Amino acid sequence: MTKAGSEPSFRDGVNLMVDRAISVMGLDTGVANAIKSCNAVIQVQFPVKIRGKIEVFTGWRATHSTHRLPSKGGIRYAPYADQDEVEALAALMTYKCAIVNVPFGGSKGALLIDPSQYDREEMEMITRRFSLELIRKGFLSPSTNVPAPDVGTGQREMAWIADTYKQLHPDDINYVACVTGKPVHHGGIQGRVEATGRGVQYAIQEFFRHPDDVKMASMSGSLEGKTCVMQGFGNVGYHAAKFLSEEDGVKITAIIKSHGALVNDEGINIEQLRQHIDEHHEIETFPCAQFVEDGAVVLEKECDILIPAALENQINLDNVDRIKAKLIVEAANGPVSFGADAILKSKGIVVIPDAYANAGGVTVSYFEWIRNISHMRFGRMQRRHEEMRGLQVTKMFEEATGNSVSTHLRNTITRGADELDLVRSGLDDTMRTAYQEIRETMLSDENITDLRTAAYVSSIKKIARSYLDVGIL
Ligand code: NAD
Repeated sequence: MTKAGSEPSFRDGVNLMVDRAISVMGLDTGVANAIKSCNAVIQVQFPVKIRGKIEVFTGWRATHSTHRLPSKGGIRYAPYADQDEVEALAALMTYKCAIVNVPFGGSKGALLIDPSQYDREEMEMITRRFSLELIRKGFLSPSTNVPAPDVGTGQREMAWIADTYKQLHPDDINYVACVTGKPVHHGGIQGRVEATGRGVQYAIQEFFRHPDDVKMASMSGSLEGKTCVMQGFGNVGYHAAKFLSEEDGVKITAIIKSHGALVNDEGINIEQLRQHIDEHHEIETFPCAQFVEDGAVVLEKECDILIPAALENQINLDNVDRIKAKLIVEAANGPVSFGADAILKSKGIVVIPDAYANAGGVTVSYFEWIRNISHMRFGRMQRRHEEMRGLQVTKMFEEATGNSVSTHLRNTITRGADELDLVRSGLDDTMRTAYQEIRETMLSDENITDLRTAAYVSSIKKIARSYLDVGIL
C-alpha cells in the first residue's frame, strides 16, 4: 500500500482538521459533535432510458447543517463520487459559509457519472430525473436546499434543475432561487461563472497585503512577477490563472491537466491556451510551452505559488516531501490530505485553506439567491442616480476651478456601477474581510499557528454561537 493509501478518508480528514481547531478552542464536546455531524444524507438510484437501454444512476445529497437556511452546496458529476466524499464536501460548505459570513448551512451533492459518455439530450434527461428525486425527497428547494455548479456541472445543468423545480412547483414565486449558477438570462447573476477563480485572486491579493504573512511563506514584495503552478484548467483554474496573470503580473509557469501538463518558465499566455484547447481539444500540440506527459510530477516544480484547482487528495503522503512551492492556495476542495498538511507546515510551506480560498463561488451564489428572491437585478435602482451625482460633482469642480475635467476622469466619475461591478466589489470585500478575521484569529492565540486552524476556529465560533443562541432541539 502507498503511504497515501494509509491516510484517513476525505471526510475523516476534514473532521480531524476540525478537531484540531476544536481542541485549541476548548469547545464543549457536545456542541462540537453537533457541529461536526452530518444532519442528513440521501442516496438515490433512478433509471433512465438511454439509446433504447435502461441505465440506473446513483446520486447523493448531504445536508451537513441547517443552522442557517437554505443549506448550500454544489452538485458534481464525476465517475469517482461516493457518499464519504459528498459528506466531506458538505461539511466544508458549512465551515466555508461561516468563514465568509454567508448565512447558509452546508450541503453538497454528486451523481456517479462520466459526462463525456453522454450527449446533451441524454445529460438533460439524467439531470431532470436526478432533480426530480431530490425535489420530491425534500433535498432541493429555494428555502431549504440550493445546489450550484461544481466539477462536471455548469450553467446548463443549473438551468435544467431550475426548470424541473418550476414544473413541479408552478405556484412558488421564488422557484428560480432553487439553484444558483444559472445562465444570466435564466435568473443567474453577472460574475457567477468567474466567481470562484476571482475569489482565489482576491484571497491571494489580500495575503500579499500583509508583509508578515508573505514573509511567513518565505517570500517578499508584491504579487507582481511571482511564479505560479496551476493544477486544473476548468472553471476555477482557468479563471484564477487568467486574472492572476493578466491583472496581477503573476507568471503561470505550468498548467497541469488530467492527461499531462504544460510548462514554460517565461509564463503561459492563458487566453492563447484557452483558444488552443477550444480548437484542438488537447494540449499536447500547444506551441508556446513544453508538454510533459506525467502531470503529477509538475506539482513538484519549484514555484512561489502552487494552486491545486482540480480534485481532492492531490498533495498527500506520497508526494508531499517533494513539494517545493512556498505558498499553496487550495482552490479545489480538499487537495491537501490530513497527513500532508502537517508535513507542509513543518516544512514552512504556508497553506491558504480551501474553506476560505474557494469561497468566491458560494459568496456570489448568495448574491444570486438574494437577487432571485428580491426579483431585481443589483444596481437597477441606483445606477443612473450615481451617474447624475458624478456629473454634478464634475460640473461643480469645473465651475469652481475654471478647469475642465479630462474625458477619462469624467467617464470614470460619471459611470454608475452595473451588476458586475457590484458583484466584484461585494466579493472583494467579502474575501478581504474574511482573511482579516482569519488572520486576527491566528494572531490572537499562540496555539494557532496556521491559517487552516485559524479559519476553522473563526468559523466554528460563529456556528457555535448560532447553536447556543437558538438552542439545540
Ligand atoms: P471543472 O470540472 O470545471 O474542472 C476540473 C479540472 O480539473 C479540469 O480542467 C480537469 O482537466 C482537471 N483535472 C481532473 N483531474 C485531474 C488530475 N488528476 N490532474 C490534474 N487536473 C485534473 O471543475 P471546477 O468547477 O473548476 O472545480 C475544481 C475544484 O474546485 C473542485 O475541487 C471543486 O469542488 C472546487 N470548487 C469549485 C467551485 C465552482 O464554483 N465551480 C466552487 C468551489 C470549489
